[in-house]
Amino acid sequence: MSLKRLSLGMKMALVASPVLSLIVVGLTSIVFSPKIQLITQISWHFFLLFLVVVTILLTLLNFTFLSYFFVDRPLKELIAIMATAEKRDFLARAPVRSTDIIGQLAQNFNHLLERITILDAFKIETERELISAQEELKYKKTMEENSRLIEKTNLELQDRLKELSLLHEFSQKITSTLEVDELSHILSAFIVKTLEFKEFVFLVLDEQEKNLTVRAAEGFDESSGVYAMSFHPGEGITGRVWKQKKTDYIPDTRMERHYLYYKGEKRQDGSFLSIPLVFKNRVQGVLNFFRPGFNSFSPEEIQFLNTLAVEIGIALVNVKLYSKTRELSVRDELTQLYNRRHFQTVFPLEIKRAQRFGKSLSLLMMDLDHFKKYNDSHGHLEGDECLKEFANLILGNIREVDFFARFGGEEFVLVLPNTPKEDAVKVGEKLRLAVRERPFHKAESQPRGSLSVSMGVSSFPEDGDAMEEIIDAADIALYQAKGAGRDHVLGYCKDDSVKKLA
Ligand code: GH3
Ligand code: MG
Ligand code: MG
Repeated sequence: MSLKRLSLGMKMALVASPVLSLIVVGLTSIVFSPKIQLITQISWHFFLLFLVVVTILLTLLNFTFLSYFFVDRPLKELIAIMATAEKRDFLARAPVRSTDIIGQLAQNFNHLLERITILDAFKIETERELISAQEELKYKKTMEENSRLIEKTNLELQDRLKELSLLHEFSQKITSTLEVDELSHILSAFIVKTLEFKEFVFLVLDEQEKNLTVRAAEGFDESSGVYAMSFHPGEGITGRVWKQKKTDYIPDTRMERHYLYYKGEKRQDGSFLSIPLVFKNRVQGVLNFFRPGFNSFSPEEIQFLNTLAVEIGIALVNVKLYSKTRELSVRDELTQLYNRRHFQTVFPLEIKRAQRFGKSLSLLMMDLDHFKKYNDSHGHLEGDECLKEFANLILGNIREVDFFARFGGEEFVLVLPNTPKEDAVKVGEKLRLAVRERPFHKAESQPRGSLSVSMGVSSFPEDGDAMEEIIDAADIALYQAKGAGRDHVLGYCKDDSVKKLA
């Protein structure tokens, strides 16, 4: 350390210490002058030695005192400020009490603190900027995510809207459908053309509710047995879906041992989807879809097809209800034969057809003999059973083109298209015998020992071309058959009836 760098105080202290000591010693000798003789008595050397020691001691004392004020204290203060700065308080400043090296050190340290403060402020600002930049980035990301989500939702909404309008259009079409065949046709067109499925099968529960039978199919060879295929409950996936009333999706048919490949009709692996057509917890049918790839149905697609299945289930019930209502309005409830109203609708059409094609047509009017007696003997219920059995017996003995109906009570009508009266009488005779030969329950009590029937036959064109005319003629002939002793079949003969009426 060079002398130049020492503070003025220190320099003064260094010079002043021995001077001050000498002054002190001098003053001491003056104070103690009365005793000077004593000093003279003691060796002068000892006195000098004493003076030197006192001077050294005073100098040391003075030096220690000054060094505390000019070195120790400022350094401690500087160290305290450094400790504060270490705790990141860069605003504290060391006191600068002198221009000496310690003062300069304090000043330099203060400069350093100033720079650090500036840097810290800058850092804080930068950090703040960084944080706001990060926030902005986060916000931007969130915005981007949100806009992606909105875009996705929009697309989904568009899809849903498309699906909904498709569904709406489809359900409008099928709700106006009254026949299963028509429904199958509309369904096939929708699935193949609009939904672009290449393979599907539509099965409907048959009337006895024992089987699901294929009503429409697409994607099979024309000669395939699929078109006439039926499944019973629990058979294959279709039967399982029927039983469980739940959609079954098989992403890989190789992994499903219950998959029957349409009983071997189509040995191809892929994805298979089977959906029950349920209405009021009852399966009305099943809709099957197939795609050659594995895992090829998306959850959204399955959901859409499930919604479609609900519509088809409703349409199926509608169709069944309609045909039932229609059947009820044309059928006789007891015998299930066509009723009089339907006969009156069909018969004029049959006459017109015969007219158009220049063909003959005959009408047989039948009346059970002494049926009142049967009822009286065995009760009305037994009588009902007898009527049902009679109806089935006649049905079993006529052609498919013939039209048999219950006219009312124990009276029945049979229309024989393309049949002249002569042949019609023969048919009537065959039927009369069949009735006589049938051992109807408890019919032995009847006057002839068995049930019998009387018939009157009239024909187009000879007996008229209006329904009423032909019915009247048959009625007259029937009356004559009764008059002839019952159990007879008589053809209407104009002359005879004129005779009779006269
Ligand atoms: P005829 O040989 O002259 O025809 O004698 P009939 O007793 O058959 O004729 P009638 O007209 O006197 O009686 C018809 C009977 O048919 C009376 C009625 O109880 C019975 N009948 C009509 N409709 C039904 C029905 O739905 N169920 C039953 N069990 N009987 C019926
Ligand atoms: Mg009668
Ligand atoms: Mg009768």
